[in-house]
Amino acid sequence: MASTIDPSVGKRTLRCAVIFLGPPGAGKGTQARRVSQVYGVPHLSTGDMLRDHISRQTELGRQAKPLMDRGALVPDELMLGMVDDRLSQPDCANGFVFDGFPRTLPQARDLDVILQRRGLGDPIVIHFAVDYEGLIRRLTGRRTCSIGGEIYNVYDHPPKVEGKCDQDGGELIQRHDDQPEVIRGRIEAYDRQTKPLVEYYAGRRVLRTVDASADMDLVTQAVMDILSAAALGK
Ligand code: AMP
Repeated sequence: MASTIDPSVGKRTLRCAVIFLGPPGAGKGTQARRVSQVYGVPHLSTGDMLRDHISRQTELGRQAKPLMDRGALVPDELMLGMVDDRLSQPDCANGFVFDGFPRTLPQARDLDVILQRRGLGDPIVIHFAVDYEGLIRRLTGRRTCSIGGEIYNVYDHPPKVEGKCDQDGGELIQRHDDQPEVIRGRIEAYDRQTKPLVEYYAGRRVLRTVDASADMDLVTQAVMDILSAAALGK
């Protein structure tokens, strides 16, 4: 864990939804893990939830797999059902960090309704603005711990021992959809279906932007500053 992180881990309060918006490879997962630790709220990665359904061979997993394999989005109604279910768990009562959701305008509009219904009000939306050239490198270099989910990058943030997680020694694996041929489809899906959300949330005055091309500890600092300022404004 980075030294820039406040020692009051898990002691700050959030009480709202935080949404990380940005293309694949922008660093949303890494930052969401850090926010989750500092604020003691769940990190809700819809990609991880879907991968879990695939490994458990559920009906949802069977429907999602062929779409994920080619970098396409899973239909909104399936996503909303899965997310609404997850938000009904007690650990979500004090807020949570979304990483990879919402990804379409219908998802964003329905999420607004869900948040109002749950008394969570407006979300804090953080846009991870990133230079597209760096994305391919970040995605092809990404490795994830098969035990704790810690995220590494063989170019910019390698583990101490090749192929092993620094924290728990777990095997580091490469996601199937981080192959170059799938990455293009995922970036196209982002541009076409998810990018319009930047305008949607800017129009609602809940959007903040961070320079996600910066060093990851600086990005963490920027994210934490936004969340602290938002907490003060409540
Ligand atoms: P991620 O781990 O966020 O990169 O997501 C991996 C894949 O899961 C995406 O390429 C989509 O196929 C699917 N997925 C994750 N979140 C969503 C979402 N909110 N809406 C539709 N599909 C999603």
